[in-house]
Amino acid sequence: MQYYSLNKQSPAVSFREAAISGQAPDKGLYFPETVPVLSASFFEKLKTLSKADIAFEVIKPYVGNTIPDADLYTICKETVDFEFPLKKINESVYSLELFHGPTLAFKDVGARFMSRCLGHFSKSSDKEVTVLVATSGDTGSAVANGFLDVKGVNVVILYPSGKVSRIQELQLTTLGRNITALEVQGTFDDCQTMVKQAFSDGELNKKLSLTSANSINVARWLPQQFYYFYALQQWPYEFEPVISVPSGNFGNLCAGLVAYFSGAPVAHFIAACNSNDVFSEYILNRVFNPKTAVATISNAMDVGNPSNFVRMLELFSHQHSRIKEMISNCSVTDAKTSATIAGVYHENNYLLEPHGAVAYAALLEYLEKHPSQKGIILETAHPVKFDDVVKKIIGEGAVKIPASVEHLLQLQKRSIVINPVFSDLKEFLLHQ
Ligand SMILES: *Cc1c(COP(=O)(O)O)cnc(C)c1O
Repeated sequence: MQYYSLNKQSPAVSFREAAISGQAPDKGLYFPETVPVLSASFFEKLKTLSKADIAFEVIKPYVGNTIPDADLYTICKETVDFEFPLKKINESVYSLELFHGPTLAFKDVGARFMSRCLGHFSKSSDKEVTVLVATSGDTGSAVANGFLDVKGVNVVILYPSGKVSRIQELQLTTLGRNITALEVQGTFDDCQTMVKQAFSDGELNKKLSLTSANSINVARWLPQQFYYFYALQQWPYEFEPVISVPSGNFGNLCAGLVAYFSGAPVAHFIAACNSNDVFSEYILNRVFNPKTAVATISNAMDVGNPSNFVRMLELFSHQHSRIKEMISNCSVTDAKTSATIAGVYHENNYLLEPHGAVAYAALLEYLEKHPSQKGIILETAHPVKFDDVVKKIIGEGAVKIPASVEHLLQLQKRSIVINPVFSDLKEFLLHQ
C-alpha cells in the first residue's frame, strides 16, 4: 500500500515512511491509495474472531510488507489488550465504551498502535525521533503513555493552558522521563498550528527527526477503525446501526468511514459536534469554513479547524450529496449536554461524560426523525476525566475514581509555560 499526499505535490510513500514523517513534505495529509474491501468470509465469522484477529485483518493491507506479519500481530494484540464493551442504555441506544485503556480515552487505541509501530521502525535506525503532539486533552496522555520509556523517542506535548481537565493535565505533566509537557498560553488550534509550523521549518527538520502523533499520522488514524468492528460484533440486531461519533478533529469519524467503505455494515453516521461545528455549514452551503475554537465542557472537541476534514472529502471524492446522505450534522450546546448527562443518569442509570453526552443528544435528535432505527454512541472517555464537569451536574460521589488515576492526585504537575507562537516552540526544540 502506498500513501499519497492530499496536496498532491509530494511523492507517494510506504506505510513506514508515512508513519515516520507524519505529514508529507508538501504539508498535505497522507491518504491510502485504495481502501481495501474486507472479504465476505471476514464478516461471516466476525462474531467469532478475537479482538487481535480483527485488528490484524483490518490493518494488514495498510501496513503492507513494512512490518512482518508475526510482529504486526503482536502489535495488534498489545494495542487492543483491554475491553470494548457495548452497553445498552435504553431500547434504542447502545454505548460503545472506549475508555477502558490505560489513559481512559479512546485515543489509547491509535496511540498504542502508533507507538509500537514507531518502536518497531526505530530498531533499524539509530537516529533519535522527536514526537510532537498538540492535544486538546486526551491525545497527549495517550501518546505519552504509549511512548513512555520507548528507546530513541522523545515526546513533546503542547496543550492549551487552563483548557484541559484536572485529571487530563496530571496525566500529561507527571510522567517525566522522555516526555515533556509544554503549557501553551493559547487554544488547541494555536497548539496545532505551532506543530504544523514545526514540520515545515527547514532548520528544525535539519537538526531533528520530527514526527507527528496527531491523527494526521496514518499510524494513529487508521487503527481507530478497529472498534467499529468490535461494536458490530456485539450489535444484537439484524439491521444496521446508526453510529453517532463525538467529533472534534474528525479523525475518529473518518476512521469509521474507512471501515464503512471496507464493508462494515453501518446504516448512517452522525458527526456530533459541540458549539465548534464547521460541519453543519458544509452540509448546508457546501463550504468548509474553519473558525476560531470556543471553549466548551466537551473540551476535547474544541477544534475550529479540523485536520481530518479533507480526508472525509477525499473518501467521498468531494461529492457533497453523498456526504450528506451518509452523515448527518448536529451541534449540541453545553446546556443540552449537561441536561443530557443529568437525564440519562436519572432515567437510565448510566453515567455519560460530556463527549458521550454530545453523541447521545445528537443520536436522539436523529432517532426522533427515524423512529424505526436504533443506534450506537461512542463513549470516548471515562467520566472521571471530566469529573469537574460531571460533579457540577449530578453532584459529588457519582464519579468513582479508578485506581489508575487515584495515584495521580498525589503527584506534582511539571510543565514548561510558553507563548502561543512558533518561535517559542522552536527555541525550546533547538535547546532542549
Ligand atoms: C479527541 C476526542 C474526541 C474527538 O475525536 P476526533 O477524532 O478529534 O474527532 C472526542 N471525545 C474525546 C473524549 C476525545 O478525547
